[in-house]
Amino acid sequence: MRLVIIGGGISGLSLAYFLLERKPSLDIVILEAGKKAGGKIWTDKAEGFLCEGGVNGFLDNRPKTLELLAKLGLIPLRSNDNARKRYIFSDGKLHRLPESPVSFFSSDLLSFYGRLRILWEIFVPKSTPDDETLADFARRRLGKEAYEKLIDPMASGIYAGDPENMSLKSCFRRIYELEQKYGSLIKAMMKLQKEAKKTGNKVGPGPGGVLTSFYDGMELIISLLKNFLGERLKTNARVVSVDKEGEDYVIYISDGKSIKSEALVLAIPAYEASEMVKILDNNLSATLNEIFYPAVSVVCLGYKRSKIRHPLDGFGFLIPNREGKKILGTLWDSSVFPNRAPDGYVLLRTMLGGARMSGLALQDEDKQINMVMNELKGIMKIDAQPDFTKVYIHQKGIPQYSSGHERRLGAIDKSTDKFKKFYITGNAYRGIGVNDCIENSFKLAERIIEENP
Ligand SMILES: Cc1cc2nc3c(=O)[nH]c(=O)nc-3n(C[C@H](O)[C@H](O)[C@H](O)COP(=O)(O)OP(=O)(O)OC[C@H]3O[C@@H](n4cnc5c(N)ncnc54)[C@H](O)[C@@H]3O)c2cc1C
Repeated sequence: MRLVIIGGGISGLSLAYFLLERKPSLDIVILEAGKKAGGKIWTDKAEGFLCEGGVNGFLDNRPKTLELLAKLGLIPLRSNDNARKRYIFSDGKLHRLPESPVSFFSSDLLSFYGRLRILWEIFVPKSTPDDETLADFARRRLGKEAYEKLIDPMASGIYAGDPENMSLKSCFRRIYELEQKYGSLIKAMMKLQKEAKKTGNKVGPGPGGVLTSFYDGMELIISLLKNFLGERLKTNARVVSVDKEGEDYVIYISDGKSIKSEALVLAIPAYEASEMVKILDNNLSATLNEIFYPAVSVVCLGYKRSKIRHPLDGFGFLIPNREGKKILGTLWDSSVFPNRAPDGYVLLRTMLGGARMSGLALQDEDKQINMVMNELKGIMKIDAQPDFTKVYIHQKGIPQYSSGHERRLGAIDKSTDKFKKFYITGNAYRGIGVNDCIENSFKLAERIIEENP
């Protein structure tokens, strides 16, 4: 069977890998618009600095990713202990994010009332509002202060999102399920910890795991998948539309050529898929177009270590929206991974834009660099000029799972099920992270093999 995968990001490439692993005889073609594959995973090396233009790493707690790395012979590079120290910029200074219940009660990040309000969570009755937003959930269960100072920056750090629009169920399913099962997050944590003591497994409300990458950066996984796939991967092949002709799909490429295939997978961003399927199914196209992608940019600044007084003793910091800053947060990359900056230098990586400030990520590069320098002066007291700068603009960055996301997924599934051998995957639907993409590709590969024995 011929199967065409459109999109050579981690979703498309890992899907092809898993399919070929199960059925080497499959005739697979991967069409990638860019001149190189990888999508949001790309590593830049310049002047001795190693900058991640998009994805910075993944948590080492998902078996499918670890299995894939082992099969590819890739050695994961776990972040060092500094990565456990995370900071929140609040009320004009950096506060260490508490890591344990004891440090939580001695931390000055939240007021005494704010801390008590979190404890009150145990008495807040369970509620099952339809598709509650993250902001409403957090205020209801944990109080306004915890929402603003803890939950809001977490939403920025993962989704660059606006918690007032993010669907709790779609973005943080486990947290939604814990309330439904145990009635309270604190009760859930106590029960889970009790069970963990018995079984020896680590459990918690969050994802857990250690931030992981590779010594030569995230793009290494793309290079190895590319080597494995060989001629099957076609770059500079932008698909403009797809249609049906009898039992086959016809895939039209921007150079005027077209190819036919019995089976088709779209592993591209939802807005691209929306354009592509307009002729095939207009309703599907409209639903895909509802998924919002705000702009995000990554501004890398490299400095001589001696120019910065701050100890850089951690992962970096995130900023709650209430602080009114123009950046989302800064990661101290060279403090957590080796090989990110030359000897005697450091690399700071700042995120701009996102659902609430998308326009800032679209400004010209110099403006963004000046804006970041200005904010770092206020927050980290860095006065010096950087020795190295690099800006990566993602005009459409991270897909937002906003209210109604589950309904949208239902409509997308219904539409795709009408067609035979037609599938949609990628980070716009059931998990935005690299780990989710790999796991979803594994599941889709199993499904495709099962449906097409
Ligand atoms: C700035 C930034 C930082 C991030 N950091 C992290 C992180 O640290 N950890 C993490 O887990 N996740 C992170 N993410 C999320 C990350 O995007 C996903 O985890 C993952 O890389 C998405 O992979 P994908 O293959 O689904 O999509 P993409 O990476 O978007 O790949 C889609 C591919 O389809 C191609 N394509 C598009 N249109 C066409 C067309 N018409 N024809 C042919 N090909 C086409 C594109 O060129 C691209 O290569 C980050 C995202 C951004 C934007």
